[in-house]
Amino acid sequence: MSKTIKKIGVLTSGGDSPGMNAAIRSVVRTCAFHGVECLGIYRGYQGMIEGDFKEMGPRSVNNIVNKGGTILKSARSKEFMTKEGRIKAHQNLVNAGVDALVVIGGDGSFTGAEVFNEEFDFPVMGIPGTIDNDIFGTSHTLGYDTALNTVVDCIDKIRDTASSHNRLFFVEVMGRDAGHIALNAGIGAGAEEILIPEEDLGLDRLLESLQKSKASGKSSSIVVVAEGDKMGKNVFELKDYIEQHLPEYDIRVSVLGHMQRGGSPSCFDRVLASRLGVKAVESLLEGKSNYMVGILQDVVTLTPLEQAIKGHYPIDLELLRVSDIMST
Ligand code: ATP
Repeated sequence: MSKTIKKIGVLTSGGDSPGMNAAIRSVVRTCAFHGVECLGIYRGYQGMIEGDFKEMGPRSVNNIVNKGGTILKSARSKEFMTKEGRIKAHQNLVNAGVDALVVIGGDGSFTGAEVFNEEFDFPVMGIPGTIDNDIFGTSHTLGYDTALNTVVDCIDKIRDTASSHNRLFFVEVMGRDAGHIALNAGIGAGAEEILIPEEDLGLDRLLESLQKSKASGKSSSIVVVAEGDKMGKNVFELKDYIEQHLPEYDIRVSVLGHMQRGGSPSCFDRVLASRLGVKAVESLLEGKSNYMVGILQDVVTLTPLEQAIKGHYPIDLELLRVSDIMST
């Protein structure tokens, strides 16, 4: 029989994303609801190693559901990659009376949680918090929906200036390994072309498509490029290439960067964070461990951490077709 859980630790790790605070709030309040203590761990695994802790009750998470970032701060910890670091972290948790851990982060953070569980038989549960939406076992990660809305809002604004000056804009969005943001925000904002890591469109096709769009009477165009696009050129090199071949275009580049990670979470992300936090705590209390809580077809589900880390939530190829049709 698994040990009764009386105290749960919670941390945020890796890149921050909107909705992390709503998830912390949910974990803290679900603990309180079930009469379990909750310990906030600052700066991810590094704070665990340094014993940077704070007892948290339902009132310590007032007024954070609407805030971006993470009140617990986030960090990447090299020391946690070492056995010595993890031994220190484990000892600190034991000293603080913590029986189980909720890790809010991406696949790297889940790998750390899995290793920690394996080495110390310590119950862990993951909540996917990353804007990239690149984690298997959930159709949405925390922050993804907010990031989509931020990107669409930015492209709408860029379109105003693009159409006033008859310009072609390359807009680079986040997504080193996954094109979910580029593809969905691109369709939402009416981009002419969307370049994603999952598909190598090819420079010739891009040229052809831009020529076609000019010939069809479009005077301005937006091309959305995921940072991990496979054409082997960064967004500035792409601009130079197109400029050489289509000199009639006035081309500009806009790299959206870190603004995509910030901002108040969307309603969708707040609700998702609340649901995932409840499930994470209740699953630990039921004796489950080593899972990630996610959402699939609007049902909150558990996926073994190992699978969540190794797999990727695939791009919907139908969306590529829709994008092509919409740019007719
Ligand atoms: P993002 O998607 O924003 O990159 P992430 O959770 O994938 O978020 P990482 O920097 O990859 O971010 O991982 C966060 C932390 O998890 C690392 O700094 C490290 O402390 C821990 N971690 C990652 N991989 C391992 C591992 N193999 N063993 C132990 N700890 C690890």
